[in-house]
Amino acid sequence: MQRPKSIAVLARDLPGRRDFTDWTYRGVLTGDDETFVVTEEADGSQRLLRDPEARARDTFTWGYGGTGPHTLAEVLVTDVLAGYARCPACMGAAPCGAGVAHCRSCGDAGRREGTEQVARTLVRTLISQIPQHCCWVLTRRAILTHITEQATPAGKGSPLTGPTTQPGHRASD
Ligand SMILES: [Zn+2]
Repeated sequence: MQRPKSIAVLARDLPGRRDFTDWTYRGVLTGDDETFVVTEEADGSQRLLRDPEARARDTFTWGYGGTGPHTLAEVLVTDVLAGYARCPACMGAAPCGAGVAHCRSCGDAGRREGTEQVARTLVRTLISQIPQHCCWVLTRRAILTHITEQATPAGKGSPLTGPTTQPGHRASD
């Protein structure tokens, strides 16, 4: 059996596909210190980015490495991969197995292997680097490129700002 494609390989290949559509994420900080992320589709329509419990407001934060940034990273990884974020072994169905059907590939998380690692890297190299009291704009393509660059040894820099500071070691795999 062929080994499923890694997220890094998907991130590299997706923007080159003919059916690829780009969209834009806008991190918004209101005057009341409320945060949310708006996704603007290519056709101009907008949707609020939501976590798995459908929460959108004050769920996502940035500028440091805590819970809000990790939630944002996990949702962003899933969102930029679109349908490819599902575990290819169970097609994302494992969480609905109610403990009867088990997926060894994803440990019943329903997500493609490596999602957590990519999300952790995204927090460290991108989301924690955004100024905390700032709104921000990132495209789907820029995030996929960032994921690709972080997965290759030569990969450095951030789509947001100039060079980012990189710790001398990678989180253990
Ligand atoms: Zn699975």
